[in-house]
Amino acid sequence: MTAPRVLRALLVTALPALVLTIAPARSARTATAADHGIDLAGMDRAVKPGDDFFRYANGTWLKATPIPPDRASYGTADVLVELTDRRVADLIHEAARTAPAGSDAHKVADYYATFMDESTIEKLGLKPLEPALAAIAAIKDRRELARALGSSLRADVDALNNTNYYTDHVLGLWVAQSLDDPTRYAPFLLQGGLGMPDRTYYLDGAAQMAQTRAQYHAHIARMLALAHLANADAKAARIMDLELRIAQSHETRVASEDVTKANNHWSRDDFEKRAPGLDWAAFFAAAGLESQNDFVVWHPGAVTGLAALIASQPLATWKDYLTFHALEHAAPYLPQAFVAERFGFHGKTLAGTPELRARWKRAVSETNDALGEAVGKLYAERYFPPEEKARAQAMVSNLIVAFGRRIDQLSWMAPETRAKAKAKLASLKVGVGYPDHWRNYSGLEVVRGDALGNAERVELFEYHRNLRKLGQPVDRDEWAMTPQTVDAVNLPAMNALNFPAAILQPPYFDPKRAVVLDYGATGATIGHEISHSFDDQGALFDASGKLHNWWTQDDLAHFRAEGARLAHEFDQYHAFPDLAVNGQQTLSENIADVAGLVVAYDAYHLTLHGQPAPVVDGLSVDQQFFLSYAQSWRDKLREPALRELVISDGHAPSEFRADTVRNLDAWYAAFEVKPGERLYLAPADRVRLW
Ligand SMILES: [Zn+2]
Repeated sequence: MTAPRVLRALLVTALPALVLTIAPARSARTATAADHGIDLAGMDRAVKPGDDFFRYANGTWLKATPIPPDRASYGTADVLVELTDRRVADLIHEAARTAPAGSDAHKVADYYATFMDESTIEKLGLKPLEPALAAIAAIKDRRELARALGSSLRADVDALNNTNYYTDHVLGLWVAQSLDDPTRYAPFLLQGGLGMPDRTYYLDGAAQMAQTRAQYHAHIARMLALAHLANADAKAARIMDLELRIAQSHETRVASEDVTKANNHWSRDDFEKRAPGLDWAAFFAAAGLESQNDFVVWHPGAVTGLAALIASQPLATWKDYLTFHALEHAAPYLPQAFVAERFGFHGKTLAGTPELRARWKRAVSETNDALGEAVGKLYAERYFPPEEKARAQAMVSNLIVAFGRRIDQLSWMAPETRAKAKAKLASLKVGVGYPDHWRNYSGLEVVRGDALGNAERVELFEYHRNLRKLGQPVDRDEWAMTPQTVDAVNLPAMNALNFPAAILQPPYFDPKRAVVLDYGATGATIGHEISHSFDDQGALFDASGKLHNWWTQDDLAHFRAEGARLAHEFDQYHAFPDLAVNGQQTLSENIADVAGLVVAYDAYHLTLHGQPAPVVDGLSVDQQFFLSYAQSWRDKLREPALRELVISDGHAPSEFRADTVRNLDAWYAAFEVKPGERLYLAPADRVRLW
């Protein structure tokens, strides 16, 4: 992803949007309190580590573990997601009994209970959506269409932090630091409007994609028919055709990641000049952005293309398109028939998941999306004690020291770049567990019995919260992830990192086991996130967060050449015989993995102070370190979900991320890896970025 900054491609659950379920999870033995070490039983010692390190570390587990029917994937991270969801559900039930009326915790309980109240939802039928459908039906001309599109704009994308480029609305808003002046916020506009995850799904000629398109067409028609709309099939054909045209104007995933091409400042007047066809005055007025003069247009071609389509395509088609998307967007909060239809396409067809998740699990996800920090406050208070926070902070400090030493030792880096790198490292703001200040939800109204209305109010609340940032000083304390998220993130324009409480738990981070295993798992994660501040994209942002390349030309050329070698290395991996990993699309993440692993390895050895470390279960400390790393990537995905990950995600599949150990000399020594083995790289071919 954006250089996708997120560590793990997990459950990107946009409120309405696609459930890009790409999570991993559980050891053959469940991650219970009984597990505090390498999962020896889950290894497959018949596989040579040098041939397939991922299967050497995880092979028995892979063979023995089915993917649960309600998941698109399963692995270590999914185990933690499931555990965390159960804990969150319990906390919500407790809040329902004890939280004072009007408190944020009470809103959490009401939001959850309303989503769980299926009988009210069934009784109401389509009624909660009728005003929105009537408003679309009443659109008389293109000015009113522009107004409708403007009023649907939401703060539902994120180009650099969580690297979420997807919105089902025609455009998405992201409010973040201006890349030219990081002391103030700017509004960024990103492309959107597709019902499927990426332009590839519309444009790729492969038979499988053609089949997916046919299934999408059928899904659109069935959704319209469920709402008792006439001529559903003909409408679906026109909606598909319109989405195809939108897709043709979209940038690729790789192009979306190129911040230097995306930082396009458009004044208000530029929209009429550069993107004629849409009544921008009406659009921006309806979006509450009429007084804004400076925008950053991340995808200029898509904005121009959209505006042209507004003018060229029949108004009736646009109205059908909006009707379908209103239904699709609202489906999770409508009666079961809509939920099932939506899942049939987005869950079964796109991700390959056989069964819809239990309602309570969806309710937890929805509540996390809606009131994330209010839930997170309850979670952190219960499950992230100060001593674990202190332990994690100590580990972060060790990683920063190790990273600093790496910078000092780089022979190819010019002194001036080195000095700036050290300054950037010193000003890195590392958040551990949860934010210093909690978000305030007092302006959000949660109404018992109105599930769809609650979801809509949450989106608007979030949108207005973002609009209010414009003109305000930048808040460097704001988090981009909730504490109950099993993931971690680098915020490049803030030069900040977030390590949520939920990723700082066993088996990633465990006070009851040898510290080397923590370094192999969480240490590598921390190193990964730190290194994003210094990777091909991190090189573009200086210590203040300004988009300003602070590297000398020679340094950057060297770094890019090494990066190109890593991209080539990943281009060779095939998730399927007909689908290779895109080394360029996943480059930043792959750089971060190599760097994170190297630095975690150094940091662990620093903790030994030259003393020998104990052999455990016949494994040397270096073997334990690398096995902990490879087991932290343990997961398996259903075929469609894995295809979606390869096509539209910035992360490589976990298996290949685990195998990146082949770039470290220490791994060869630890496992006696020899030339001729599948993962063997000659010393000169190993990629050494740091
Ligand atoms: Zn990352």
